[in-house]
Amino acid sequence: MKKNIYIWAFMAAITPFAFANGASAQDMVLERFPLDLSSCKGATVSAHFAHGGNDYHCGTRTYSGHKGTDYPPTGAPCTVVAAAPGEVVATADGNYDAQSSADASVNVCCGNGGCSYGNYVRIKQEDGSHVVYAHMKKGSLLVAKGDKVTCGQPLGIQASSGCSTGTHLHFDITPDSNGNNRYDPYVGSCGTLDKTRWVSQGGYCSSYSDIQLPADTCQCKPSCNGKACGDDGCGGQCGTCAPNETCNAGACQCVPQCDGKACGDDGCSGQCGTCGPNETCHEGTCRCVPQCDGKECGDDGCGGQCGSCTDDPSCSGDACASEKICLNNKCVECDTTEAVCEGNTAKKCVDNFYQYTECTGKDTCVDGECVETLECLETDEPTCDGNNIKRCVGGQYELTACGNDQQCIDGTCQDKVAPETPSSPDDPTPGDDPTPGDDPTPGDEPTPGADSDSHVSVQSSADSSCSANLQTGAGNCTPLWMVLAGMLSLLGIRRRRRS
Ligand SMILES: [Zn+2]
Repeated sequence: MKKNIYIWAFMAAITPFAFANGASAQDMVLERFPLDLSSCKGATVSAHFAHGGNDYHCGTRTYSGHKGTDYPPTGAPCTVVAAAPGEVVATADGNYDAQSSADASVNVCCGNGGCSYGNYVRIKQEDGSHVVYAHMKKGSLLVAKGDKVTCGQPLGIQASSGCSTGTHLHFDITPDSNGNNRYDPYVGSCGTLDKTRWVSQGGYCSSYSDIQLPADTCQCKPSCNGKACGDDGCGGQCGTCAPNETCNAGACQCVPQCDGKACGDDGCSGQCGTCGPNETCHEGTCRCVPQCDGKECGDDGCGGQCGSCTDDPSCSGDACASEKICLNNKCVECDTTEAVCEGNTAKKCVDNFYQYTECTGKDTCVDGECVETLECLETDEPTCDGNNIKRCVGGQYELTACGNDQQCIDGTCQDKVAPETPSSPDDPTPGDDPTPGDDPTPGDEPTPGADSDSHVSVQSSADSSCSANLQTGAGNCTPLWMVLAGMLSLLGIRRRRRS
């Protein structure tokens, strides 16, 4: 019930008035003038629909009782065409017409029942209205009952069949097949419609020579069957696609929106791209997901690092630099914390890296440590210890005694020199005979400092015997070697003299 009410309300709103069968007059559209003017010299109006004694324009180009519009040609007969598309529901042909015979006396149909139209075509238009094209030429009909016709489709040839006094097309319209309600499709001050049923009614023909006709072009019919979009064939569009769609063969197709996107929704239920297995899509960009599970450091697979192992950030599995090992995701060098010796080099692990210490000097490597194990060095100069030569052999001091007639001097054994007189070998009075600075030439003296080690060792042993007599002022003690050297020089000279 509710639905019916809505339909009634809708119809009432759009319908100026309704005919008996409910057809809407507003829908009755005559697209074009029903004669093909290109097939003849032209046409005009001889009689309009009668509204009393007047035509729709309140003129007199009608006659009483005329329930249609008469269009005679201005020259040769014109081809009759459909003013609108529809279906042929009735025809008549074979009736006498004045064009086919000069016998004007043959006019049997006027006021004589159903043949006053002569040869005609009745078309039921798409809105349900019926249009009659009457008085056509005998044998000229081009359509038959049941035919579908399009606007402008030829129906036959003008003539003067039926109740007609001259060649013309009688054109009338009814809201249905009942011819009792024929009406004037023109609108004018004396007409009955408030709106013309012609697409373009044209002007008013006030006389035979005043030719004012409806437009003779069919309306373009948008062709949108099965089309959601695209050209409707009449300069319009069948529909509108969404902003992210494009029309393809009448169908709206979603256009993937992937500009600048490597991944993600394309807006058409698809994807713009595929990220790698270790990536996720974030706002159209594939982002690498760091793979750091169980890793303190090393490559995260995304060009970064998993942690802050400063030793070697490259530690990943077995990817440490050479001679390093990856231990607990840190690149380390030590595989043991035990200190060892490599030759004379101590090697121990400090902060996961080997620290090497070469043992030098008196140190040697013992159990990974540099330990002082030597008394002396092989490079040490020999010295004297008493009457022994003291030299370093294998890191230990070794004493070598000088002979009885020898005396250790400067680390070497030198022959003793016999005393000059047997009476006084034990008593060479210091300061007596060999006058210091007297005979021994300066060039014979051992140069002080030439061998500081032996010099010091001798001096230290002689310090205690340093006589006050040997002091040469300022408290300095003349070294014993100088005394001995002076004595030897004197003895040598004297020995040479004796020989
Ligand atoms: Zn007529």
